[in-house]
Amino acid sequence: MTLGDLELTPLLDGFLRLDGGAMFGVVPKPLWEKRAPADERNRIRLAMRPLLVRGSTRTLLIDAGIGSKMDPKGIDIYGIDRARNLDQTLADAGLSADDVELVLASHLHFDHAGGFTDRAADGSLVPHFRRAQYIARTGEWDDATHPHERNRASYFAENFVPLREAGVLTLVPGDGEIVPGVRVVRTGGHTMHHQIVLIESGGRTAVFAADLMPTTAHVDPPWIMGYDLYPMDTLAFKRAFVREAIDRAYVVFFEHDPEIAAGYIRERDGRKYVEPIQP
Ligand SMILES: [Zn+2]
Repeated sequence: MTLGDLELTPLLDGFLRLDGGAMFGVVPKPLWEKRAPADERNRIRLAMRPLLVRGSTRTLLIDAGIGSKMDPKGIDIYGIDRARNLDQTLADAGLSADDVELVLASHLHFDHAGGFTDRAADGSLVPHFRRAQYIARTGEWDDATHPHERNRASYFAENFVPLREAGVLTLVPGDGEIVPGVRVVRTGGHTMHHQIVLIESGGRTAVFAADLMPTTAHVDPPWIMGYDLYPMDTLAFKRAFVREAIDRAYVVFFEHDPEIAAGYIRERDGRKYVEPIQP
C-alpha cells in the first residue's frame, strides 16, 4: 500500500490461538463467537502482522511477531502456526532480515517481541535483525524487566534483554517522531506504556493500532481485552481515537485480525465497522 511517499506492507508471522473470553473481556460468548468462532479449547485464531514501512530515511519494521523460540508446551498452549512466517513474508516483499534498519516495538509482549531475537546454535540469544537498531518505550521496558504476577506470563526476558546486551537498543521516553513520517503515541490501557504508531505522508494518515484494537471486532468501544491491565484507559483512548479515525479516514492496520490486515473504520446508524482495504 502506498501512502504519500511511503510504502506500507503488512507482513505475517503466522497465527496463534488465545482464549476467546480473554480476548473480549466482558462481552458474552454468544456475541463474540459470531465474530470469532472458538475451537474445542475455547481459543480463537489470531494473526501476527508486523508492519513494514519503506520510503522514509530508514527501512522500519513495527513489531516482529512471536518468532522461533517458543518451546513445544508454548506452541501447544498458544496453537502457534508459523507455516508462513516473518522471514518468508519479508522475502515476498523483496527483503531479508538484514535489510531491516530499525525495529520499533508497540510493547514487549511475547507475540509482538518474540521475533526480535533468535536462539543461536550454541544456545546464545542474538538479535534476529542483525543490522538493525531496536526502539522501545522506556516505561514499557521498565515494566517488562520488572514483571509482576499479572503480567509475568506475557514478558519473556529472552525476547528483549539480549538487545540491550548487544548494544542495539534505544529507549524513547515519550511520544514523538521515530523517522520522518512515523511517530509513536502512548495509549496506555493494554499496558501502562503501550503505544500505537501513526504514519503520515502525502496528507494521509495510517495507524498501526497494535493491541489498542487487535482485531476489527475490537473497534466497538466496549469490546476490550480481558488481558488489558487498565481497561478504562483503553476505553477512553479508543473512544476518542475511533472518532478521529472515522472523521479523518485513517487507514488502520489490525495486527491480530485473522482475515483483515487493514481497513477504514466507518459508522452507519450508530454502528461502527471496518471496511477492509483489499491488498
Ligand atoms: Zn499485548
